[in-house]
Amino acid sequence: MIQQIIEEGIVLGDLVVYMLLDADDIVLIAESPEGLQDFINVLFDFCQQSKMEVNVGKTKIMIFERRSSLQSQHLKFYFGDSELEKVEQYKYLGSIFSKSLNFQENLENVVQKANKAAFLFWQYIDKFQFIKVSQVLKLYEALVVPILLYNCECWGPLISESLLERTIEVFHRKQLKRILLVGEKCPNAAVYLELGKVPLMKEIKLKVLIFLLHIIRVYPEKHLCWKAFMHLMKSENKYSNFVKSIFVGLKRNVAAFMSNFYEEFYGVEYHQGILSQANKIWTSELVEQLKTKAKENVKLKFYLKITQDQPFGMKPYLDMISNRNSRSYLTRFRCGSHRLNVEIGRWMRIEQLSRKCRFCTSGQMEDEEHMMECSFFEEERNELYEKVQEIIPYFGEADKQTQLKLLFCDSLGMSNLTRKYIGRVMYMVNKNFENK
Ligand SMILES: [Zn+2]
Repeated sequence: MIQQIIEEGIVLGDLVVYMLLDADDIVLIAESPEGLQDFINVLFDFCQQSKMEVNVGKTKIMIFERRSSLQSQHLKFYFGDSELEKVEQYKYLGSIFSKSLNFQENLENVVQKANKAAFLFWQYIDKFQFIKVSQVLKLYEALVVPILLYNCECWGPLISESLLERTIEVFHRKQLKRILLVGEKCPNAAVYLELGKVPLMKEIKLKVLIFLLHIIRVYPEKHLCWKAFMHLMKSENKYSNFVKSIFVGLKRNVAAFMSNFYEEFYGVEYHQGILSQANKIWTSELVEQLKTKAKENVKLKFYLKITQDQPFGMKPYLDMISNRNSRSYLTRFRCGSHRLNVEIGRWMRIEQLSRKCRFCTSGQMEDEEHMMECSFFEEERNELYEKVQEIIPYFGEADKQTQLKLLFCDSLGMSNLTRKYIGRVMYMVNKNFENK
């Protein structure tokens, strides 16, 4: 029966798609309202003959269009005598499809789900006072991030970057800040750099690429997916543009890549090579963007000074310092998330020159660099320098900038010494802030 009206389906090259089946789920697809009603009638007849039932209450009609049109508002569809409800969005296989296919509702839904998971995650994680940052990060990436990226092979290429940024990336960054024990105001670039992570866009691109590699690995006879994909790539659309940009980035020709597989089989190793190349390229692209953002942010001047050679990468001190307070103070000091006058002045729009140190009479601006030499903390500093000198004999003779870098150098284990000094500074700064 269906074959008689097959021409009503969606034509993708020599492939006609009129139905998607998944377990007991049926999606009927047609280009025209009449075509869809014909399909529904066929389904109705089939159910009558085979004594099967369709849950009409759960059966919905969706019209995909850029903008709602009057014409589509007046359309009616019937399963037997029952009118079917038209909806603006529908959850199919775990993702919400909206009629304009911008996936905004889906992303909001995904964030809501991830929020619930994160609540339980933190309830559990907070019980372990001495768990390492790298372990928390791994667990978060295994338990919460997959909820955010569920089905992104499908919606990833279709969403705008600004929508991605204000939905799942905002949520993701909030969790990274919690892992780092810094405040909401902590500069975003520093959060990624300090943890050695890049925005989720890279993960989305990788997942799409893995999906494509999976499509071309399937046997040709079963190649419905491949055919549909090749058709999609023939025209200008969001999906094909996204895929093309992926391959441009990898310096490969997408058409050749996708069609050559017929002639020769690319082994798993070859695929692994592509994936690791892609991972490398996209990571370094995003890292460059993060570095540029950090350079543009005055709050991160000190951060870039102490991490000069390598601002990107999970900093070893995060795992080395098990005391959470101590670690938090150090991270906040490094990442410009503190209450030094230079920062408070920014909040209150006080002129830079008036953001003077409250602890000494030097008249210098109260910023991170000054706190490392402020006379008020001389005693603590002498104690620190003495210990540092034992490990780095040339410390005393080094110039100021080198000393600064050495004090925050993780490979020499300095953070464990410096944290005590920073802890004292941050304690006094906070006390001063609260008494104000
Ligand atoms: Zn001072």
